[in-house]
Amino acid sequence: MVITCWGSRGSIPVSGIEYIKYGGDTTCIDIHTDSDDIIIVDAGTGIRRLGNHLIDQDRYRYNFLLTHGHWDHLMGFPFFKPLFLSRTEIHMHRAPFHKKFMESMFSKVMAPPNFPVRYSDLKAKIVWEEGHPAEFQIGSAAVVPIPISHPNTGKGYKFIEKEKTFVFLTDNELGFVHRGGLPFQKYVDFCKGADLLIHDGEYTATEYRKLTEWGHSSYTDTLRLAFEAGVKRLGLFHLNQERTDDQMDAIVDHCRQIIAEQGQSLECFAVGRDMTFSL
Ligand SMILES: [Zn+2]
Ligand SMILES: [Zn+2]
Repeated sequence: MVITCWGSRGSIPVSGIEYIKYGGDTTCIDIHTDSDDIIIVDAGTGIRRLGNHLIDQDRYRYNFLLTHGHWDHLMGFPFFKPLFLSRTEIHMHRAPFHKKFMESMFSKVMAPPNFPVRYSDLKAKIVWEEGHPAEFQIGSAAVVPIPISHPNTGKGYKFIEKEKTFVFLTDNELGFVHRGGLPFQKYVDFCKGADLLIHDGEYTATEYRKLTEWGHSSYTDTLRLAFEAGVKRLGLFHLNQERTDDQMDAIVDHCRQIIAEQGQSLECFAVGRDMTFSL
């Protein structure tokens, strides 16, 4: 599979010369499976560029997964141009949510007077996949959802293909169990041996002490998860809206220092726009 990041910023999109390297768009990634299926995760503002890319590639059939309903993961949805083309077919894998709940979330970001086009007026064919399975298949990839520890609940996902494993867990607070969330050890078990883990690492340990229960992790907790789960590569995600490129680089340097001190072999970096990962 090939994973591309179209936006990794948390909570609100940002712009400015201090955000050039990692980018300002909010959460959207896509996974291109070996079976040539396209899986889109979240509709943050990054989905706008993904939509343009898919049209350029003449691709109009996608699978869609949502982590949760917070604005930064939905606000790009009305700007995903393939929604306005009748040849587009989107398979909604609503594993975390009921169809009505998901439709009401999409309707909320597309309703006058906040947006001129209604969700009900979309040209694309939306196919609702049935059920809330513990594990399901999209082409050659097995997909395993897990509850996130986050206000208002949601899901993270593991993608397994040809013995390669990618785990995507954003908006997951490792230091506090929210309603519907799981204790730290459950996330360790879930991430065990992953080839790539992309995980929320929004705060420094100092910030986290003041922002406990806000739904995000300190990067030191995220690093500990990666160590205990024995993952090979860790990408820090949900970059704080105030975090400049230089500050993000300093965080990555600190992580690499901790990795060296502990004699670990983990590869650690911060996830930014247009980064791709082949597993
Ligand atoms: Zn978020
Ligand atoms: Zn959130």
